[in-house]
Amino acid sequence: MFAKPNLSTARKKLSIFINNGLQNYSKSRNFDYGPGKRNNVSKMSPFIRKRIIHEKEIILSCLKKYEKLQIDKYIQEIFWRIYWKGWLEGRPKVWDDYVSHLEKYNKNIFNKSFYRDYINATNAQTGINCFDQWVIELIKYGYLHNHARMWFASIWIFTLNLPWELGADFFYRNLIDADAASNTLSWRWVAGLHTSGKYYLAQQSNIEKFSNFSFHKKNQLKKKIATPIHQFYKYQKPNFLNESIDNVKFYLINPNNLIYDKELINKLEKNKVVYFNFFDDPKASKTKKKFENDALEEYFKYLELNNIKINKFLNEKDFYEYFNQRSNHLHTFYPCIGYEKDSLDKLSSEMNIEIKYIFDSFDIECWPLAKNGFFKFKNKIDSFINYIKMKKDLI
Ligand SMILES: Cc1cc2nc3c(=O)[nH]c(=O)nc-3n(C[C@H](O)[C@H](O)[C@H](O)COP(=O)(O)OP(=O)(O)OC[C@H]3O[C@@H](n4cnc5c(N)ncnc54)[C@H](O)[C@@H]3O)c2cc1C
Repeated sequence: MFAKPNLSTARKKLSIFINNGLQNYSKSRNFDYGPGKRNNVSKMSPFIRKRIIHEKEIILSCLKKYEKLQIDKYIQEIFWRIYWKGWLEGRPKVWDDYVSHLEKYNKNIFNKSFYRDYINATNAQTGINCFDQWVIELIKYGYLHNHARMWFASIWIFTLNLPWELGADFFYRNLIDADAASNTLSWRWVAGLHTSGKYYLAQQSNIEKFSNFSFHKKNQLKKKIATPIHQFYKYQKPNFLNESIDNVKFYLINPNNLIYDKELINKLEKNKVVYFNFFDDPKASKTKKKFENDALEEYFKYLELNNIKINKFLNEKDFYEYFNQRSNHLHTFYPCIGYEKDSLDKLSSEMNIEIKYIFDSFDIECWPLAKNGFFKFKNKIDSFINYIKMKKDLI
C-alpha cells in the first residue's frame, strides 16, 4: 500500500522502475515472485487508474532513458489499458449486460447452485493452494500480478465453474486499480467471450514455472473445456462531445480524474469547485476504500495548497440544495463507462442537472482507433507517441 497516493509518490515509484526494472521488463514481466518482490513490474496501475499520473507522462519519462525499441513491450502494455477503454466506449452494452447479469446472480445468491463453491472461493477455501493464496493476497494488498490475475480468472471460470461476472465483481471490489474496462474485458477475454475460439486455460506447469507455487495436490486444474460461445457486440461510434474547460462555472471533482496539472489549476481558480461522493461502493474492501480515501485527501491538499477553495458536501441532497439555486449545469472530467458514469447519469436525470463532460485530448485521440483487435491498435502506437511529443499540454 502507498502511504501517500499522490503525484509525487507515483513519480518516485516510476523513477525507481525506470532505473531498475524497465530494461528487463519484457523478459521478466511474467514472473510473479509474490508481494514485496515486484521490481519486475511498475505497479503504476493504481495511479493510472485515478489519473494521478497520466500515461503520457509515463511514456515520455521512459523514452527519456531508453529508445522505444528497447522498451516496446512496456509501452505496449501501457496502451493495452487505453485500448480496453476505447473498445468499451464503442460497446457500452457490454458494460450494461455485465451489470445486469451480475444483479441476477446476486439476487438470492444463497439459493443458487454455485453458492457453496462461491463462498469457498471468496474465502480462500478451495483447497487449490495457489488460488487460496491469491485470494488472501488480493484482499490484503488490493493487487495481484497480471499473470496471477489470468490464472485466477481461469481457475474461477473453468475449474470452479463459477460465473465470470461474479469473479470480475470480486476483483472489482478488492483491486485498488479496479477499472471497469480493463477488469470486465480481461475477464471476458479469459472466458473466451472476447475473441472467437480464444480463451485462457491456466496450466499447472505454467503456474509452477512463473510463480513460487508448487501444487500439493496434482491434477486439480481442468485440462479440457467445452469451447465458450463468443458473443459479438457491434461497435457504435461514440460521440465524445468535448466541453471546453474555459466555460466552466461549477466544477465537480471526480475521483477517477485526480489530475495534478498547473493548467487545470489556473482554469479552476476562477470557478466554483465542488465535491460530494457521487458513487459510494458499499462492497469495496477496506484496503480499496482506504486507498481511494487517501488518494482523495491527497488531492484536496494539492488543490488547497494551490489556493483552490473546495465546497465539500456530505451528500447529494446537500449539494443539490446549494447548487440548484445557482446553476443547472455542472462540469466534470469524463469518468469513462463504469459505475461512476452510471451514477452521474442517474443523478443528472433524477435531479435535472446537465452534466457537461471534459474529455482528455489524448483519450479521444486514441479511443476511436480501438474499434477492432489490439493488433491494429498497436500499429498506431508510433503515431500516438508523436502526438504526445507534439501536444505537450495536458488537457
Ligand atoms: C482478469 C484480469 C483483470 C484485470 N483487472 C484490471 C483492472 O481492474 N485494472 C487494471 O488497471 N488492470 C487490470 N488488469 C490488467 C493488468 O493485470 C494490470 O494492469 C497490471 O497487472 C497492473 O500492474 P502493473 O502496473 O505493475 O503493470 P505493468 O506490467 O507494470 O504495466 C504497466 C501498465 O500497463 C497497463 N497494463 C499492463 N498490463 C495490462 C493488461 N493486461 N490490460 C490492461 N492494461 C494493462 C496498466 O495500466 C499497467 O499499470 C487485469 C488483468 C486480468 C487478467
